[in-house]
Amino acid sequence: MSTFSKKLLQWYNPNERNLPWKQTNDAYKIWLSEIILQQTRVAQGTPYYLAFVKKYPTISKLAKAPLDEILKLWEGLGYYSRARNLHQASIQIMEKHNGHFPNTYPEILQLKGVGKYTAAAIASFAYGLPYALVDGNVYRVLARVFGIEIPIDSTLGKKHFEEIAQQLLDKDNAALYNQAIMDFGALVCKPSNPLCNQCPFSSTCIALTQDKIQHLPVKTKKITKTTRHFHYFVIHNTAHILIQQRMQNDIWHGLFEFPMIETIDHTLPNDTKSIFGSNKKLSTTSSFSFKQELTHQTIHAHFYEIKLSSLPRQNTVVIHAIKRDLTKYVFPKIIHSYLQVRLIYLT
Ligand code: SF4
Repeated sequence: MSTFSKKLLQWYNPNERNLPWKQTNDAYKIWLSEIILQQTRVAQGTPYYLAFVKKYPTISKLAKAPLDEILKLWEGLGYYSRARNLHQASIQIMEKHNGHFPNTYPEILQLKGVGKYTAAAIASFAYGLPYALVDGNVYRVLARVFGIEIPIDSTLGKKHFEEIAQQLLDKDNAALYNQAIMDFGALVCKPSNPLCNQCPFSSTCIALTQDKIQHLPVKTKKITKTTRHFHYFVIHNTAHILIQQRMQNDIWHGLFEFPMIETIDHTLPNDTKSIFGSNKKLSTTSSFSFKQELTHQTIHAHFYEIKLSSLPRQNTVVIHAIKRDLTKYVFPKIIHSYLQVRLIYLT
């Protein structure tokens, strides 16, 4: 065992995070937790994990569930393709593996929505297979401890870090080692303000000794964000409200929203023909704005409440939803936030 692994496991023993998915070696539950925790903080993901395990205790229950029901349980977690992939992969497991979760790395990697990181996590945590995890935590810890300056978002960097991670892995204790490095990255070698004075590597850590903590790990590409303005028309009468399903190849595919127009800024457009069938001068009772940050986009949603005595006809896109049933539909978080504030005034 390398000195690095020894020190890491010594640190882990008294410092381990007690998380619900660590109490099991059931590959199905570990897979659920890993998909839920992708791009999601542990505190936010934990209630979703517990809700999914409770509602779908087996792969077969998840595979048989309607997608709408799964999306509803996922509501608020974002990146809904993960929920769709969970459903498709559970069907894949029922059909190809007779309902038994696959137990080899290549087979796990074949599941819909499972990449190298998730496959290594399931293979090591559920089956003790010797595959090292490489994610943001691992990049950060290895780059800092060993002073690796190769960009982590380059092909060369990814390969280099994967090789080092695999060499350092304690192959007889793959699950323990992988959990230890994840917890260490989350609790001690944090992105900002790492706890170097409590760190077992502090005497040799290159980032600390050469004052490069802020510099490591190195990334070349900067995330560029686009700003989008969605104007939502909350058109309702006494009993109904107009909604439509997002079917375009864009964010929130398959989720519901109000009839809308997108513009390049916050100005309310004059052209409302696409919403009402003819240009109408809008007379809104109230308007509200909400903002949501996604990885690559900032969304500004402007809501205009319009009460009419009779609603425009339903068509293949727009439907008349019963107001008291509105919470049965799956909405993006930003609409959910709006409804939390305004639903009581609309019904
Ligand atoms: S000494 Fe600081 S920067 Fe280096 S590994 Fe430890 S916590 Fe991270």
